[in-house]
Amino acid sequence: MPAPYEIFVLVKQVPDQGSKAGLNPDGTIDRAKAKRMLNPFDRYALQAALHTKKCYGGRVTAISMGPPPAVEILMEALEHGVDRGVLLSDRRLAASDTLATAYALFKTVTWVGRFDLIFCGLQTTDGDTAQVGPQLAERLGLPQITYCQDFKVEDDKVHAERIIEGGYQKLISELPVLITVANSYHPLDYKSFRGAWRVQQLLRNQEEQKKYIQTVDLDLVGADPERCGLKGSPTIVAATEKVGEIGGNCSMHEGHSPTDLVSEVLDASKLKEFLTV
Ligand SMILES: Cc1cc2nc3c(=O)[nH]c(=O)nc-3n(C[C@H](O)[C@H](O)[C@H](O)COP(=O)(O)OP(=O)(O)OC[C@H]3O[C@@H](n4cnc5c(N)ncnc54)[C@H](O)[C@@H]3O)c2cc1C
Repeated sequence: MPAPYEIFVLVKQVPDQGSKAGLNPDGTIDRAKAKRMLNPFDRYALQAALHTKKCYGGRVTAISMGPPPAVEILMEALEHGVDRGVLLSDRRLAASDTLATAYALFKTVTWVGRFDLIFCGLQTTDGDTAQVGPQLAERLGLPQITYCQDFKVEDDKVHAERIIEGGYQKLISELPVLITVANSYHPLDYKSFRGAWRVQQLLRNQEEQKKYIQTVDLDLVGADPERCGLKGSPTIVAATEKVGEIGGNCSMHEGHSPTDLVSEVLDASKLKEFLTV
């Protein structure tokens, strides 16, 4: 497919980990109390999508699935230079696992229309499975490049570097393709003045906002409610446990040989008594 490209980027709103969201009595995250933020990993996907548009031309559409407040991250994406946003929001999606999420996003992506490149984050900071991108590619019948740390588009083919243990693979893919972007990719640029100004206008005008951000439900995208939410989720969370605050004392050791350092750290941490050698 020749440039200009139709570029999709998938973004998710997650609880801000610094906000101490807490858990509901049933062990699920108390999302209502948590501060919300754009999934940090999706910032790299956003950068990759905007970079593609800047270098090769095209239009960037940010797509999210989540409750109504997720519109905030689509606004944020607009501030960075995305052209439009689509939010899939429907109460029947509550308790969706990755299988149901990927199905619902598949129906949404198909509904939005033609695409050449789809960018996803590597993983999220709440679900943290890194399954949604690959599952979505599978449902769309697309080639996928995961853990992508860099890429360029030449002759309508993507030339990518994919991180593997101890190095990287060079992969070439035809378009359309789905790419999950590693957090060693370039950090997200500052918001654009034009984007920030446009969002300020949209915040004052609901009708104008609808031209840029469309909220859709399962019926509109033609998704089967039986395959979404709890009904469509074979994953069962058997139990959730709060492990307490992460923290404690930290000490720095430097300037000796590795052997001395290991010995020092073992002494300091009182780990020695647990070791048999
Ligand atoms: C049994 C179960 C019940 C759950 N119930 C709820 C619930 O009631 N409410 C709730 O909010 N969550 C719920 N979750 C969590 C939520 O469904 C998962 O977060 C979701 O399936 C995505 O998986 P992940 O976060 O691991 O994404 P990953 O696979 O780690 O994400 C990879 C990338 O996929 C894309 N992506 C992932 N999710 C979305 C999305 N929603 N929109 C757009 N792009 C996305 C992003 O680009 C992201 O970087 C539940 C999970 C399970 C297992």
